[in-house]
Amino acid sequence: MSAPTMSATSDAAAEADTAVFERRESVVRSYCRNWPTVFESARGAVQTDVHGREYLDFFAGAGALNYGHNHPVLKRALTEYLAEDSIIHGMDTYTPAKRDFLLAFERHILNPRGMDYTVQFPGPTGTNSVETALKIARKATGRSDIVSFTNAFHGMTLGSLAVTGNSMKREGAGTPLYHSTSAPYDDYFDGSTEDFHWLERVWADSGSGVELPAAVIVETVQGEGGLNSARAEWLRALQDLCRRFEVLLIVDDVQAGCGRTGWFFSFEEANIDPDIVCLSKSLSGLGLPLALTLMKPELDQWEPGEHNGTFRGFNPAFVTATAALNEFWSDDRFVGDVRDRSAQLRRGLEEIAAAETGATYRGRGLLAGIHFEDLERAEKIAAASYERGLLVETSGPDSEVVKLMPPLTVTADELARGLEILADAVRATA
Ligand SMILES: *Cc1c(COP(=O)(O)O)cnc(C)c1O
Repeated sequence: MSAPTMSATSDAAAEADTAVFERRESVVRSYCRNWPTVFESARGAVQTDVHGREYLDFFAGAGALNYGHNHPVLKRALTEYLAEDSIIHGMDTYTPAKRDFLLAFERHILNPRGMDYTVQFPGPTGTNSVETALKIARKATGRSDIVSFTNAFHGMTLGSLAVTGNSMKREGAGTPLYHSTSAPYDDYFDGSTEDFHWLERVWADSGSGVELPAAVIVETVQGEGGLNSARAEWLRALQDLCRRFEVLLIVDDVQAGCGRTGWFFSFEEANIDPDIVCLSKSLSGLGLPLALTLMKPELDQWEPGEHNGTFRGFNPAFVTATAALNEFWSDDRFVGDVRDRSAQLRRGLEEIAAAETGATYRGRGLLAGIHFEDLERAEKIAAASYERGLLVETSGPDSEVVKLMPPLTVTADELARGLEILADAVRATA
């Protein structure tokens, strides 16, 4: 890796490079503000900009690039598919690419785990999967409220936003957000309150003013909301509570799924059995848009076409998704590597946090970081990391957590190098 040089002349050149974005593109753009260069190519865990500067990418497309950039096996599957006159856009018509994907998903994911879920292809993004899950739950129960958790993130369309915690993002809706109730996530009161004390009480009390919801939606690790990670026993207690009140349990595994925590589904570790599961980000493996909503077969109560979408059959994404399942999920080797790297990341982060005051490890698997009591610190560290050739983002309501999400294919050496850069950035901002 060549070290980035931040001379005055290269800054001036970078400004000229980005002029059209600043002139023409909406001010809503955000990641590019922290990484104001023009990225040109990428392979594995490394991205290269137009000046030939290399960056270790510990952001991985917000979790859309679990297998790294341009994985050769996935890229070959795609280029071979494109070289023929194969179906690219297919609505929901039957194609060999979709058939192969469903067969691989049964073979490598559902069958070995003894899972029986009906697969629905919603539109191709995470929020499409969440909207679909909410509709399914409302339709199946005839109820309209959804319970979500403090600091939850479920997407930007109005239904998903209604179950998202962040006030800045909620205000962006410009309209009231309906039929959602926010409940305390695991450890919200630092262990001082019994888990689910409030939900249990208000659901049982017909005078509580809180309607029994259609579903509860939960992330096992809050990727955007500050890397809070729910304990397995908390998730099991949540499932028990939902079952007792016949409330459906939705796990939004859009970010924590596809291997990120060392399991294909992040909830496997807790051994729970959600009614509905949302998957997207790394499902296609190569960063192509693809999403799924999994539901228990009895919840599949749609009329044909009742929930629809033009881009539910993006066949190139089925092709790379199938290649990813065959390459990484046919045996336990890959998850073994992910767990080794996760332990290495945790050790490195805990070491860095131990040398600071008011800094604590947060997260699970390769979705982990450091929470700082000084609310300005994480953003300074992310900026100092960028200057040193490492891409990391921040997370949490005040961007107070430095978040590391390397590709799951990161090597031990790359991970060690990234942790060194991070440690240096932490020292430089002390
Ligand atoms: C990213 C994300 C979403 C939304 O996915 P988009 O593809 O951005 O719409 C939903 N839920 C979680 C947990 C996410 O991380």
